[in-house]
Amino acid sequence: MPSALIIGGSIAGLFTALLLRQAGWQVLVAERSPGDLASRGAGVGTHPEQFVVMRRLGLPVDEAIGVHFTERLCLAQDGQVIARLPFEKVQTAWALLYRKLREALPDDCHRDGLRLVGLDQDAAGVTAQFADGTRLSADLLIGADGVHSTVRRLAFGGPDPTYAGYVAWRGVVPEAAVPAIARPELVGPFGFFVTARETMLSYLQPGPGDDLRVGQRGLNWVWYHPTSPTQLQALLTDAGGRHHPQGIAPPAIRPAAIAAFRAEAEAILPPQYRALVAATAQPFFQPILDLDSPAVTTGRVALVGDAAHMARPHVAAGIAKAALGAMWLADALAGTGGLAAYAARALPFGAALVARARWVGAFLEDPPRPGLAGEPVPVMLNTGSPLGEIPGLAPFLPA
Ligand SMILES: Cc1cc2nc3c(=O)[nH]c(=O)nc-3n(C[C@H](O)[C@H](O)[C@H](O)COP(=O)(O)OP(=O)(O)OC[C@H]3O[C@@H](n4cnc5c(N)ncnc54)[C@H](O)[C@@H]3O)c2cc1C
Repeated sequence: MPSALIIGGSIAGLFTALLLRQAGWQVLVAERSPGDLASRGAGVGTHPEQFVVMRRLGLPVDEAIGVHFTERLCLAQDGQVIARLPFEKVQTAWALLYRKLREALPDDCHRDGLRLVGLDQDAAGVTAQFADGTRLSADLLIGADGVHSTVRRLAFGGPDPTYAGYVAWRGVVPEAAVPAIARPELVGPFGFFVTARETMLSYLQPGPGDDLRVGQRGLNWVWYHPTSPTQLQALLTDAGGRHHPQGIAPPAIRPAAIAAFRAEAEAILPPQYRALVAATAQPFFQPILDLDSPAVTTGRVALVGDAAHMARPHVAAGIAKAALGAMWLADALAGTGGLAAYAARALPFGAALVARARWVGAFLEDPPRPGLAGEPVPVMLNTGSPLGEIPGLAPFLPA
């Protein structure tokens, strides 16, 4: 039986492990985080293509998969509704999807607390070294270790992701705690606020325990806000002066940085969103990054998910990209094409998705680049739009 060692036990790693296992491979997922990843994460967009892959794995995809939307609306700065559009979309919680995948993988195929620090490959196989001294060998090693991938650095020599010039401030407010002023417009529709330099959006997501009952859900918000590299450096530095270049844990964000963010929110956002930010106990942020890898395979090593391509969140495709990449990899290895057949799909798909997401977010950069106009209707139409409408993607999508 061929064997695969998968580095990273998040969405891409779990999809890959489950699909390869289904195809007759012996798999082991090595995840660096010792704790339960499901305790982290917020809201996330979905695309029907990821559900095709989940169904192939026999995972249930029904009404309980997330919150179903039929409408999006856009607020003006004074709080008036200035646009309404239909929107057929399912939004869910990252943790809900993670749990479904993790529960489907037997525990003996998963080890946590293993951080990859080195790898060697030759004609006989590939060996991974971990920070605790563990060494593991397999026929194939798959880097599903995210945008700051160690596998990409060790086996491909790069590239590093590039910072887009803006961050996404984020938060989740329990539905029961959503202020009255925000309820009529934001509890129900997918909400937006768009200016020439900013975008705020919000949507309901499953609550704790994947609860979809009215009153028990969460209201997830995301504020794309121009932030210079110098400002980002300061945001990623904790109160003790330690810099966290790959992302700072929410509790470590300096109180002064949170206070400055809250003051900017008060000055810029409509009243509904100001109230939502004020009701958020623990805001956090993620720098917006681009990554378009020129190669996703080398020898016995392959990259999947964000380790291969990082598209800005405007296309809401982090999960779908991980699912499709894992499926193409499993199919390529089951057929005669091998890793070359995987790369022939993953590279053009990833490049087209990254390019589209850069185009959608170009107006948020500092200075703005030519791209989508920072106006309500174009931004609403191009946020989380169907993958089949994105130039270059249709030939790759499952029926
Ligand atoms: C805990 C968590 C919560 C998230 N929550 C959200 C969310 O709410 N909304 C959203 O839009 N996106 C979220 N994301 C990111 C996102 O959805 C990703 O696009 C999606 O998970 C697919 O990415 P991925 O599996 O390729 O990479 P990631 O999700 O980034 O996972 C990479 C995994 O590799 C592990 N890893 C990294 N380096 C090493 C190493 N050297 N050795 C071993 N393991 C390593 C990491 O710990 C991580 O589990 C989250 C990611 C994580 C890890």
